[in-house]
Amino acid sequence: MEPTKRIYENESFCFEFTGHVLDCQPDKKGWLVVLDRTAFFPEGGGQPADTGLLGQAHVLDVHIRENVIYHLTDAPLTPGQEVKGQVDSTRRIDHMEQHTGEHILSGILHSLYGVENVGFGISADNVRLDANLELSAEQLAAAEEAANAAIRADSPVQVLYPTDQELAAMTYRSKKELEGQVRIVAIPGSDVCACCGTHLARTGQVGIIKILSAEKYKGGTRLSLACGGRAWKVLTHDHDQVSQISALLSAKPDQVAQAVQRQGEELAAQKQRCALAETHWFESLAGQVKPGEKQVMLAENLSPDSLRRLCLALSEKTDAPCAVFSPGGSGLAYALAWAGQDVRPLGKALNEALSGRGGGKPVLVQGSIAETDFEKVRAFFETL
Ligand SMILES: [Zn+2]
Repeated sequence: MEPTKRIYENESFCFEFTGHVLDCQPDKKGWLVVLDRTAFFPEGGGQPADTGLLGQAHVLDVHIRENVIYHLTDAPLTPGQEVKGQVDSTRRIDHMEQHTGEHILSGILHSLYGVENVGFGISADNVRLDANLELSAEQLAAAEEAANAAIRADSPVQVLYPTDQELAAMTYRSKKELEGQVRIVAIPGSDVCACCGTHLARTGQVGIIKILSAEKYKGGTRLSLACGGRAWKVLTHDHDQVSQISALLSAKPDQVAQAVQRQGEELAAQKQRCALAETHWFESLAGQVKPGEKQVMLAENLSPDSLRRLCLALSEKTDAPCAVFSPGGSGLAYALAWAGQDVRPLGKALNEALSGRGGGKPVLVQGSIAETDFEKVRAFFETL
């Protein structure tokens, strides 16, 4: 079949066009439509395919094979028919913002640190860029600053089709060996790269680039980015979160991190004081236990660790079973000890009698029971 004329290569802001249907074949997921010309970008180079309309048919996916572009549609079209195409421009402009931003940042990472971009992908909720070298937070901050300066410089994004001779004299980034006419995307001051994708006309249209995260990946660095409208959404959301946290902590927005750290320290000190008070309380309860006396106790708000400590404190004073319960989840959490005995069979009997689960060591069993009526718990221990 004849190669499809690619309108998007030189007119990336052309979202409406007319073309002639050359072929339409049924496919597993719909119909595969071939036109003589198209503005629909087929998936490639990390940029997803366009969607939109061909006549009344929805274009669900677009791909290219041997220079022929196939539109996957949800309705058939008639060969020979002239059809109006409408590309979803919101989706495409978002992709161009991310893709052009990626060129700027990749070109700058390359010129600053000799980094190669070895992977790139745009999805609905993430823009991923894989660099082949490990990069420090300082290096990334410097690159991000330079990329945003390049955006404000509002340089043109040029598409060039150099001759073999011109190409041989050119320094450019490329992910693979290229054959045939090479398409070069050049952004003065930022990047020169072989690329098949669609781009904005000027760097200023990217608006902003923000690196959201960086992690070590296969000996290099995997970055998550947001450019343009996506960056604005992320920064707006984060700003809103900081404002809410700032109000909750009564701290200035630029001091919330210190305020959270201070709260953490205060919480740790409170926990220490609470544990100390509990220890005094447990000692006083244990002081009232008579040797040989069984202990079955219900206490509010005890953590699993506090249950354990209280139960062991009681068990030190008597050789009879000791059980402590505290409301937790939808039932009662418990700790069970029996000085000088393996307490596990008693734990098993308790679980069976009162719909419980849990286990432990010969000296201590912990778990929970579904039963919430403490009188039934007492009745169980009466039978011992
Ligand atoms: Zn590109």
